[in-house]
Amino acid sequence: MQEASERSAGIVLFRKDGNRKLFLLLHYPSGHWDFVKGRIEKGEDEKQAAIREAREETGITDVEFIDGFEEKIHYTYQYDGKLVKKEVVFFLGITKTSDVTISHEHLDHVWLEYDLAHSKTTYQNAKNLLQKSKSLVFAS
Ligand code: ATP
Repeated sequence: MQEASERSAGIVLFRKDGNRKLFLLLHYPSGHWDFVKGRIEKGEDEKQAAIREAREETGITDVEFIDGFEEKIHYTYQYDGKLVKKEVVFFLGITKTSDVTISHEHLDHVWLEYDLAHSKTTYQNAKNLLQKSKSLVFAS
């Protein structure tokens, strides 16, 4: 089978609501719930791509990165007879915006507290990201 590779960047994005910390998940057309992410385009660095994707996919423009979080995940999937090997780098970000305008690329969005977000995210590697972000999020 032919192989292709893909690199994306994303953000484990949260906001404060009183004492609560809420995480943003998107419903992808292929069925899974995951964080904001998308392809890194030519001329962009990873953080620029992550910020652009957040803006395009949610309308959120006030993302502030939290230092000390940069996690890569890897997975493969088949598309058009090709085996696509994908790497996604995730940062941790906070926003003050609660209103989300999703693009045509997604079906829905939800803001959830940690435990619910952990069960809602589809893939184990995404759950692991959430777990790794926990201490930084609750210290902020
Ligand atoms: P991007 O948001 O980077 O533009 P995309 O929307 O084109 O990506 P993916 O979300 O990477 O596509 O989904 C492509 C395929 O990989 C789908 O079949 C999806 O179910 C699967 N997939 C997505 N995320 C993961 C993951 N974290 N672990 C394993 N498989 C995944």
